Amino acid sequence: EFEGVLDETTAQKHITQLRDQIKQWGKEYYENDAPTVEDFTYDAAYAALVSLEERFPQLITKDSPTQQVGGSVQKSALPKVEHPVPMLSLGDVFSIEQLTDWAQRTEKNTTAKLAYNLELKIDGLAIALDYQDGKLVQASTRGNGIIGEDVTANILTIAAIPKQLTEPLTLEVRGEVYMPKAAFANLNKQREADGLATFANPRNAAAGSLRQLDASVTKARQLSAFIYYTDQAEVLGVTTQAAALNRFAQLGLPVNLTNQVVTDSSQFTAIIDDFSTQRETLAYGIDGVVIKVNDLNQQAELGNTVKVPRWAIAYKFPPEEEVTQVLNVEWTV
Ligand code: NAD
Repeated sequence: EFEGVLDETTAQKHITQLRDQIKQWGKEYYENDAPTVEDFTYDAAYAALVSLEERFPQLITKDSPTQQVGGSVQKSALPKVEHPVPMLSLGDVFSIEQLTDWAQRTEKNTTAKLAYNLELKIDGLAIALDYQDGKLVQASTRGNGIIGEDVTANILTIAAIPKQLTEPLTLEVRGEVYMPKAAFANLNKQREADGLATFANPRNAAAGSLRQLDASVTKARQLSAFIYYTDQAEVLGVTTQAAALNRFAQLGLPVNLTNQVVTDSSQFTAIIDDFSTQRETLAYGIDGVVIKVNDLNQQAELGNTVKVPRWAIAYKFPPEEEVTQVLNVEWTV
C-alpha cells in the first residue's frame, strides 16, 4: 500500500517501475516457464500497481499488465492460433472480506438474486479445444488471450482428453491442463539425476511440457486436464455453469466434479475451508477456489472487462508459512 500523500509524478515513477518488474516476471513465467519469484511476490506487486492505477486512473495505459492477459507468443516457435472469443484471466482476491465485497458489488450489478458455483482453481495452464462434429480438430494455449499457440499434436498425447466426444457436437471447450503431483515429483527427480534444471512447480512443469515442439516429449510427461468452460452453452442446452460441467462429463470430457453451488455468499467460507483442507491430499495442485455466478444469462448480463470476466473471481490461498517469512515487498512501502 502506498500510504499518505502521493503526487502524480511520484506515482508515475512507481507505476513505471512496477510495470517493468511485472512484465519481466511475466516473461519468465509465461514465456520461459521458469519464474524467479514466488506467486505471492508477483501478486503483491500486481496489487500495488492496481491500487496506484485506481488512485490515478489517468495514468492507466493499454500496455499496463493490468489491461492485458499475461503471456506473449512472439518468441514461441509453435504455430499461432487466433481465438475467435478472447481467453481471459481472472480477477483475484486474497481474503474472505475481499471476496464478500466482490459478491456485494456483483449483486448490485445484477437484477435477480445470484447463485454461485464454487470450483477448485486448478494450478495448470488454460487451453482451448475445438471439436467439430464431435472430433477434436485443434487445441491451443491461451497465449496473450487473443493469439495462442497451436498445441494440437501435444494435446492428442494426453489420455484424459477425448479425441472424440460421445455426441457429434461442434463446439469449443476450455479448461486447464495440469501435471499430477506424482508425475511432477518423478519428472523433477529424473531431471535432477540427469543434471537438468528442475521445474519450480507443477504449473510451470505442465506449461513447459505442453509447449514442446516434439509431441513425444509431452507424451512422456503424463499431463492431464479438467474442462470447465464453453461460451457456446446453447450447443450443450444448459443454462448454468454447474449444468455445463455435468454436460461436459456426459460428453466424455474430464471434469472436476467437486464443485458446489451456493445461494448465498455467507456460505463461501465453509466451502473454501473445506477445499483448503483437501488441498494436501488431492492428486493435483490447486492454488485457490474460483467463484462463478452460476446462471449463464446473468454471466452475460455482467459481461467482461478487457482482461477478466465480471461474473467470476479467484480466491487465492495464502502462501505456505515458511514462504511468507521471505516475503520481499520493497515496493509496498
Ligand atoms: P490466474 O492463473 O491467477 O487465473 C486465471 C486462470 O485460472 C485461467 O486462465 C485458468 O487457466 C485458470 N483456472 C484454473 N481453474 C479454473 C477454473 N475452475 N475456472 C476458471 N479458470 C480456472 O491468472 P493468470 O492471468 O493466468 O496468471 C496470473 C497469476 O499467475 C498471478 O496471480 C501469479 O500467481 C501467477 N504469476 C506468477 C509469476 C511469477 O513470477 N511467480 C509471474 C506471472 C504470473
